[in-house]
Amino acid sequence: MSERFFPDGMPQPLADSTTLPFWEAAAEHRLVVQRCTPCGHTRLPPAPVCPACRSTESDWQEVPGRGEVYTYTAVHRPMAAGQDLPFLIAVIALEDAGGVRIISNLVDVDPDAVEIGMPVELAWEDMSPDLAVPRFRPCAGT
Ligand SMILES: [Zn+2]
Repeated sequence: MSERFFPDGMPQPLADSTTLPFWEAAAEHRLVVQRCTPCGHTRLPPAPVCPACRSTESDWQEVPGRGEVYTYTAVHRPMAAGQDLPFLIAVIALEDAGGVRIISNLVDVDPDAVEIGMPVELAWEDMSPDLAVPRFRPCAGT
């Protein structure tokens, strides 16, 4: 089930040959991180070269989609017409992802209630039939 949190007019990510596998997995509501095949270093956003060993070989590791708020900010200026303000941009430290953090949005939460270290989980937003964007909300029961 998908919910909507942002208006259609939000700027959309542009996939290229490096990031396309991430967005293809996202369209299936699977969150993946890029993993260096030789050394196992994980990275996000995707990049052509491993920063740890300089290898260009990599694959994709699906991760559970839970994490905690590493840092966040509240934005009081809209990026699209009809947008609820403020909206929250956050860096999420992902669980079981080799230390990878993802930049995303926090949804379904009062901005004054957000805390560093708050446990969060994925909330997929289908912006179009081909584009699902990973957002995060507080874990149920927290
Ligand atoms: Zn490597």
